[in-house]
Amino acid sequence: MDWFAHHKRDLPWRRDVSAYHTLVSETMLQQTRVEAVLTAYTRFLRCLPTVAALADCEENALYKLWEGLGYYRRAKNLQRAAQMIVTDFGGEIPRKVSDLLRLPGVGAYTAGAIASIAYGLRVPAVDGNVLRVMARLEADYADIALPQTKQLLTDHLQNVMPAQNAGDFNQALMDFGACVCLPNGAPLCRTCPVADYCLAFAQNAVGQLPVKSPKKTRRIEERRVFLLLFEDKVALRKRPNSGLLAGLWEFPNTTDDSEAFLASLGVKPETCRPIVPCGEAKHIFTHLEWHMTGTALTLREQPNQKSLCWVDAALLVKDYAMPSAFAHYRSYFLDKP
Ligand code: SF4
Repeated sequence: MDWFAHHKRDLPWRRDVSAYHTLVSETMLQQTRVEAVLTAYTRFLRCLPTVAALADCEENALYKLWEGLGYYRRAKNLQRAAQMIVTDFGGEIPRKVSDLLRLPGVGAYTAGAIASIAYGLRVPAVDGNVLRVMARLEADYADIALPQTKQLLTDHLQNVMPAQNAGDFNQALMDFGACVCLPNGAPLCRTCPVADYCLAFAQNAVGQLPVKSPKKTRRIEERRVFLLLFEDKVALRKRPNSGLLAGLWEFPNTTDDSEAFLASLGVKPETCRPIVPCGEAKHIFTHLEWHMTGTALTLREQPNQKSLCWVDAALLVKDYAMPSAFAHYRSYFLDKP
């Protein structure tokens, strides 16, 4: 905590602490880099400064605010949590961990972060950074990918947490993991302020810790992505309301036969001029990889197809939330002369 007092990162959600700010920032930070969250967080709070505003936000506007963060299901869960806070908790984010865990999208880590940072309660918040730091400090060879290892370390932290400043204690561990005890064999042991207490360092075992079993390999999908262009507009379609990237806008794409797919949209490639390749792109989800190949087709007439929505560049930027999976093709459309 001495180290934290001098080295803590200056982050916007630390300047104005509240349970709502912690809920929003910690949800955004799940699986997302701090740099990406910095801009999105400020924009999000400017438009949705309260739990009630978030609960009432229209879905498209919510997704637009989430743009750049990925994993859009978090945005939907965050809104469902806000709606539950309004209906079940009178608009106040609850203090009890058991109540926090009822909120959609809130797991043990986020509940611990809200309870300790916003309410000062003595509750651990254990993320990947904390697991790595603890495994090294204690030369613990248990697999940190296993829930029982996480539980044991959480129990252990619960015993050693100070009675005061629990939020600082948790944030000190997070920042220490993010800034000093770095992952991938690159911790800054030579300048580490706790090297004297670190068992992994004493045992020359830093490179072997933490032990983490590899994730399952991802399934690979080959996708064809189509930019259907008509005058100054491009065709979008909305993804289904459940499943991967639910409810977001995308360029029409398929893993099936391209010709049959285009025919189902009322597009006859033989009438399109020009047809140009618009590059390959890859997007990695947790369990899945999309390997995409894009084609831009300039149409002579606009197909009468209800599932397609035609937008120009200005409208696309202003109103349509598109997952980063399509960033390459979105830029292609926006940058074309
Ligand atoms: Fe991490 Fe190295 Fe410090 Fe140990 S000595 S806590 S491994 S940075």
